[in-house]
Amino acid sequence: MDHARIEEGVRLILEGVGEDPAREGIRETPHRVAQALEECLAGMRQDASELFRVGFDADCHDIVVVRDIPFFSLCEHHLLPFFGSAHVAYIPGESGRVCGISKLARTVDVYARRLQLQERLCAQVADAVDEALHPLGVLVVMEAEHLCMTMRGVKKPGALTTTSAVRGAFQKNSATRAEAMKLIFDGKASGL
Ligand code: ZN
Repeated sequence: MDHARIEEGVRLILEGVGEDPAREGIRETPHRVAQALEECLAGMRQDASELFRVGFDADCHDIVVVRDIPFFSLCEHHLLPFFGSAHVAYIPGESGRVCGISKLARTVDVYARRLQLQERLCAQVADAVDEALHPLGVLVVMEAEHLCMTMRGVKKPGALTTTSAVRGAFQKNSATRAEAMKLIFDGKASGL
């Protein structure tokens, strides 16, 4: 990432909003913004497929659900954060091969730490799991608050946007999809 250019840009923004970039409190702001962007957009330089190199032949053929994975992303339209929870479900393929469950959370991070749209983020996580594990099905649901919608624009704090990406068996079989949704959302209701 080109920190010098980011810093130059942030100085221009500060001038543009009528600030004095030399003012003591914000003198180091361009530097801090560049560092923050480096961290928040780290996923741009990460390859999710690397995460799945190690898997386990567990002879598992039932639905695996990891829910309430927190994530933070930046909307590519306003460069403002959107954040919330991701829920990832999959059914292992014929081989019964599974991945370490932390890998699903890390996959969410790799794609969230980019300039994103929630719809695309959801689809990318589903496709990454699909390509890495060749499961019978993948279902990803994401619920997020977008600051570009809640602190500006229509200003509706707490409004949540829900997106889903459905692949394979979850797409073809509505009972299988319903079972995964129940595992994701009933657990939440019971406070487990
Ligand atoms: Zn936005």
